[in-house]
Amino acid sequence: MMGVIMRRPVPEGAGRTQVVGMTNIDTRQDQRSNGRRGARANRRSVEGVFRSTGFHWVGDGFFVSSYFPRPSLPAERVSPFLLMDYGPAREFEPLARGERGVGWHPHRGFETVTLAWEGAVAHKDSFGHAGVIGPGDVQWMTAASGILHQEYHEEGFARRGGRMHMMQLWVNLPRAQKMSAPGYQPIPASRIPTVGLPGDGGSVRVIAGEYAGQRGPARTFTPITMLDVTLRKGHELVLDVPVDHNALAVVTSGEVAAGGERGKGGELVLFENDGGQLALGAEADAHVVVLAGEPIDEPIVQYGPFVMNTEAEIDVAIADFNAGRFGRVPEDGEV
Ligand code: MN
Repeated sequence: MMGVIMRRPVPEGAGRTQVVGMTNIDTRQDQRSNGRRGARANRRSVEGVFRSTGFHWVGDGFFVSSYFPRPSLPAERVSPFLLMDYGPAREFEPLARGERGVGWHPHRGFETVTLAWEGAVAHKDSFGHAGVIGPGDVQWMTAASGILHQEYHEEGFARRGGRMHMMQLWVNLPRAQKMSAPGYQPIPASRIPTVGLPGDGGSVRVIAGEYAGQRGPARTFTPITMLDVTLRKGHELVLDVPVDHNALAVVTSGEVAAGGERGKGGELVLFENDGGQLALGAEADAHVVVLAGEPIDEPIVQYGPFVMNTEAEIDVAIADFNAGRFGRVPEDGEV
């Protein structure tokens, strides 16, 4: 069913994506020459604005663009995040029979975090967890020592057809937790606190970390902020983030201004680590996912669905998977 994983070189992801804008802002000069900035001097500048240029299918259900990893967004700039696949809203025709998605496959050494805005993703794994990620829901799955799972369009959604709009992030785990027990956090929209911005400026859904005194429900192994933000034209989001945390904003629609740069729908804004505040101003009504976190300063060795610290650990992951040590695929109807 899943076959045997043989070691071979990891294909380069380069070429699917390109940098559209890079700036080097001399912040010292900026602060000297513009005293009016005052309290704004703590605001981060922007290292680059990145657009995806390529899409690919994950299984036959998810048409996504991988924003990172890529050479211009190296691991140390996006850590603790390892990978981001974004699937813009896409219409699927009703499916009379069968299913769309990705069959049983393994993960080890990190977490997968799935966000859905439209459509519905059904999940099952080898530890008996099952659930549906619908509009506004988040699923935070800790693969850690190893899990097998499948990700399909939920059956009712597949039959009806409709729009799917989703994102999946891979979040790294520190060495000490890579072989921890797997875990599963279904986070329905109803559990995600929403903070309204002043003057009907939009809203912030706090998935992980904290905003305006509200804590997100996700339990994370390292400090992470994950916010799902709707920002109305002319309004601003200002967020405190420790200067050493990496931070980026994925603009899924609209347009924002940040650090003197602009980010439009489909663009990723990477912040410099040069201030304690992020500020995003909406040039047009915008939807933005803000991701920040303390970098995990450890070597990363990735081989397909396994992300470890050393080549030897990858060899062990492959051997363990081939020996059936990632758990058992449940029988139909079992979960
Ligand atoms: Mn997966």
